[in-house]
This record gives sequence, structure tokens and C-alpha cells, in this order.
Amino acid sequence: MAGANEIRFDGRVAIVTGAGGGLGRVYALELAKRGAKVVVNDFGGARDGSGSGDASPADKVVAEIKALGSKGAPNYDNVATPEGGAAIVKTAVDAFGQVDILINNAGILRDKSFLKMEPSDWDAVLAVHTNGAYNVSRPAFQAMREKGYGRIIMTTSAAGLYGNFGQTNYSSAKMSLLGLMNTLKLEGAKYNIKVNTVAPIAASRLTADVLPPDAFEKMKPEFVAPLVMYLCSEECPVSGKVYNAGMGVYNRAAVMTAPGFVVGDGKSVPATEQVVAKLDQIAAMKDAKEYEQLNDLMMDMLVALQAK
Ligand code: NAD
Repeated sequence: MAGANEIRFDGRVAIVTGAGGGLGRVYALELAKRGAKVVVNDFGGARDGSGSGDASPADKVVAEIKALGSKGAPNYDNVATPEGGAAIVKTAVDAFGQVDILINNAGILRDKSFLKMEPSDWDAVLAVHTNGAYNVSRPAFQAMREKGYGRIIMTTSAAGLYGNFGQTNYSSAKMSLLGLMNTLKLEGAKYNIKVNTVAPIAASRLTADVLPPDAFEKMKPEFVAPLVMYLCSEECPVSGKVYNAGMGVYNRAAVMTAPGFVVGDGKSVPATEQVVAKLDQIAAMKDAKEYEQLNDLMMDMLVALQAK
């Protein structure tokens, strides 16, 4: 159902990383249906990132895009290297002349309980999620800045936002993307580059063994795409926001900061026991608020001190 308020991407060029399957494929097809030219990046490795790559996942999705009568270009580079990131953005510029939209979606999993989590499992997951988003966003940001327009999506996870047993590497990697978003939204603001984050919940290759089979219909990746399309659109008014999306349920998640309590007079350092005595007031979340940037928090802290 579209209508007068239909969100369109005519004339826009989008890159979707890890778009050979799962959520990325659905985003790529939806962007293409709505007029975007889409670079379908997928390295084509195994679920844990192993393997030497495979062109067929990206090629298949490009064929699906072409079957819709839209334009797509494949890319098989690995997001985990700076050269890969540069080559992905170059594919978009060479094929379609610009980059307007980047969805950082490529992902792998190497779940293990913490003591079994070897450095290689830790590094591989951070390389794809954390370094991957940096490697592709940096050259894309350059191209967007030159045109004065851009929409960047980060993909986090409820595992990072809230925790999930056996996923210390993945949780850490996924939360790093919020830090990247928080600062990139500030650096992109004057160039009309907006950066937002989705935490999807969907049945895919990544979640195949943790979900019951009947969950697959209920948790189709298609349910995540509407919100992501909005965040990629010219109409999107927000930057620096995080949304959970899955099964038709959408909600915003945020870091909230309580007003807190000034212990002492700000001149002499309070004893630990004095701070402990005020823990209820320090922890109370009534009147908690969101901050746009570090300086705003500092200002409120100084004002609280002054008021004492
Ligand atoms: P998926 O495995 O179906 O898709 C991920 C794709 O990324 C694969 O096609 C894979 O080949 C590709 N990829 C992996 N490493 C790559 C690399 N180095 N370079 C380029 N491509 C690479 O999984 P999905 O569920 O569709 O996941 C998409 C994103 O959503 C991931 O970032 C994932 O962490 C995140 N996520 C998914 C869920 C969920 O419930 N499915 C929940 C939270 C977050």
C-alpha cells in the first residue's frame, strides 16, 4: 500500500552490504522496487565468515533486481578490509555515479561462552561488524559529503543493546556501531548526512538454529524493511536514533540519563560512603533524558553543581 505519501528513491544510489541473502536481500529489493539503483555487496562466505567467497549470492539478487526492471550492480568484496570498503563504494560510483544511501548490514556469528571465546572468534566478528561499518562508511561519507546528501544505516542487535548469553564478541561489535553512529551523526549533520541504526529480529541464515521452524513465517525479514526504508529516505527527519524492528513490532531504544545527585559541594571529593548513601537518588530514572552529544551532558552536570 503506497499512495500519495509513497516513499521513493528515484535517482538515488544505494549500497547494501551483505545483501546476498537474509535482511540485506530484502532491503536491496525494496529499494530497487522504489526506484533506487542498488549495489548488492556480498562476500559469499559461510555463516561464521569462513570460506574464500562466492559470487552467486550477490549475482542472484542482482538478477532479481533486474527482473523487476530496476538497476543493480554486484560487488563481492569483503567489508572487513579498508580495500574492500573502498572497492564497494567504487562499484557504486563507477556503475551509477554517486552514493546516496548505505546500509551497513553484512554480518557473521561466532557464538561461544566467554571462556571458550578465542581471540580469533573475537577478532573475526569485530572485523566484519565494527571494522566493516568503518571501512565502507568512510569512503561512502566522502562521496555523500561532496553531494551534500546521505543516509547511513547501522545494524545493531538486541544482543548488544540488552545482552545475550554466548555472544560477548557479537554484543560488543554490535554496540560499537552505536558509538560510531553517535559521533558520525554530528559530523554528518551539516552535509545533510543522517545516520540511524536498526536492531532487527528476523529469521535468516544467522538465526536458523536458534529459532523454531514455525517462527520463520512470523519473523520474515520483510517485516524489518519498512522502517529501514523510512530511515534511508529523504523524508527521514531523524539522525542518531535506534529502532528495534521485527514481526511487525517497531520501537525506539535509547540511552537515557537520570538527573542524578550532587554529593558534596563539588570542591572536596566525597567519600565512597557518602556516594553510597545517595545511591537511590543517583539511580532514580525519573525525569531521565536523552543527550544529543557529550557537551550537553557536561553542561547539565555543571548546572547541577552550580545549583547546589
Ligand atoms: P544473513 O547471514 O542472512 O546475511 C548476512 C550476509 O552478510 C550474508 O549473505 C553474508 O554472506 C554477508 N557477509 C558476511 N560477512 C561479510 C563480509 N565480510 N563482507 C561482505 N558480506 C558479508 O544474516 P541476517 O540475519 O540477514 O543479518 C543481517 C544483519 O542483521 C547482520 O549484521 C546481523 O548481525 C544483523 N542482525 C540480524 C538479526 C536477526 O534476527 N536476523 C538480529 C540482529 C541483528
